[in-house]
Amino acid sequence: MERIVYVNGEYVQESDAKISVFDRGFLFADGVYEVTSVLEGKLIDFDGHLRRLRRSLVELAMTIPCPDEELLSIHRELVARNAVVEGLVYLQVTRGAADRDFAFPKNVPQTLVLFTQAKSIVDSPLAKRGARVVSVDDLRWGRRDIKTVQLLYPSMAKMIAQEKGADDAWLVQDGLVTEGTSNNAYIVTQDGTIVTRDLSSDILAGITRAAVLKCARELQMKVEERPFSIAEALTAREAFTTSATGFVCPVVEIDGTALSDGNPGAVAVRLRQAYIEESLKAAI
Ligand code: PLP
Repeated sequence: MERIVYVNGEYVQESDAKISVFDRGFLFADGVYEVTSVLEGKLIDFDGHLRRLRRSLVELAMTIPCPDEELLSIHRELVARNAVVEGLVYLQVTRGAADRDFAFPKNVPQTLVLFTQAKSIVDSPLAKRGARVVSVDDLRWGRRDIKTVQLLYPSMAKMIAQEKGADDAWLVQDGLVTEGTSNNAYIVTQDGTIVTRDLSSDILAGITRAAVLKCARELQMKVEERPFSIAEALTAREAFTTSATGFVCPVVEIDGTALSDGNPGAVAVRLRQAYIEESLKAAI
């Protein structure tokens, strides 16, 4: 069935949606995006996603496309029109359409596009089984804190992982894990400490990361925000990832070596449950 999508102020059938061939999102990957998950027809962590959207736009000298309340009502309208109970809302803002030139154009209207995707997130076979990851060199640009639409290298890394029979890649820079292709990466040490890389321009500040670390601290779990290597990860009791579309997803194998007994770890399972409960309470 065709979805209703949002393009520059209008709700249209997906096959009627049109963007200029001169759009800078298309020509230069000159745009940013956000993905907000939907549970029970409600938006999860919406304020966090809006905050990060604003930051990404400011970092790229772009303006905010419309007031927050309008963005919220577009999200809600799309969820309602497409009858999404569980899934996600994807939002993209680009610098707009202009003659192809490396310099940013002036006074050009931005392009704002949103669409929904129905997806089972809570009842996820991958989360039940646990993901297998492989390490891949992190060859992305130096501003990974900005959520831009230039996702070619993460896609390539995902393909390398799939070719090796794994589910995803963990990206490694100077011997240390930065993050997954589309998620933040964590290990749980033998003494039960949760370790995840500290925030910097090396990684995206995951909205789920912030919420899950809050849950962990509330559950009296010890958290260390510092880089770790693949060698250290292989000595870990368990590992997991976080993202808006995967929530907390256990990792059971790294570079072909199983962690502990090869099953999802207790900390990941507990945090997944806690995150789902807490985010549902705060969903809007
Ligand atoms: N890191 C990268 C590179 C990502 O692409 C994503 C999500 O797309 C994340 C981390 C997780 O961020 P969030 O929890 O906000 O989905």
